Order: sequence, then structure tokens, then C-alpha cells
Amino acid sequence: MNVFFDVQGTLLDGGIPRPQAREVFIRLAASGHDIYLWSSAGAGYAASAAELLVVQDLILGCHSKLAPPPVTVDYTVDDSPCLVESYGGYTIAPFDGDPEDQELWRVVEALKQVTGST
Ligand SMILES: [Mg+2]
Repeated sequence: MNVFFDVQGTLLDGGIPRPQAREVFIRLAASGHDIYLWSSAGAGYAASAAELLVVQDLILGCHSKLAPPPVTVDYTVDDSPCLVESYGGYTIAPFDGDPEDQELWRVVEALKQVTGST
């Protein structure tokens, strides 16, 4: 599935990267998912977030939320329920800078429910 991650609140708190992002992206990619970042602040902002998170090699693209992306959005991960309601996906607890945060692993579990994989 094409899985689109929101940036602010989902993967970053201000400039602080959410823990486990790289580890979770590796797992999702290994399960066959294509990972994208998108942001209402634009594709460039999403790309800078990818650098900060050190996941550039694990994602297929960075896009703005303000224009339709060039691929189908199959699943979204967002701290705001609005996009999740439109596209389907997982509403994640907003990241508050906690260095012990493990919430991104819930995305792996949620996607397993959808795809029926183990
Ligand atoms: Mg957000």
C-alpha cells in the first residue's frame, strides 16, 4: 500500500524527530509498503523532515498535502483525524517530544489489521 505520513505532530515535534521512525519505516518497507511523507507546509518541508529523521533512503517521495499526489493515497498516518477520515488510515497520538515514545509501532500493528499479514 502507498502509506502517507504526516510530518508535524506525527513525525516531528517542532524540530525534534519522533523516535523509532527509521526502524518502523524499515519494517513497513520490508512488508512491501511504499512510504511517502506529505505536509501542508509543502513538499520541501517534508523533504527536510526526511533528512532530519534519516529516512531519505526508505521513502519514495515527499509531497504537499495541498495538491493531489501523483500516486494513490491508500493509507494515511496523521495526528489530525481529518485526513484519516478522508483517506482511511491511522490517527496517531501527537508527538510531544518524549524520547521514549513508541507510538509509531502502533502503525505497524494497524497496517497488519488492514492487510491481514502477520
Ligand atoms: Mg500533523
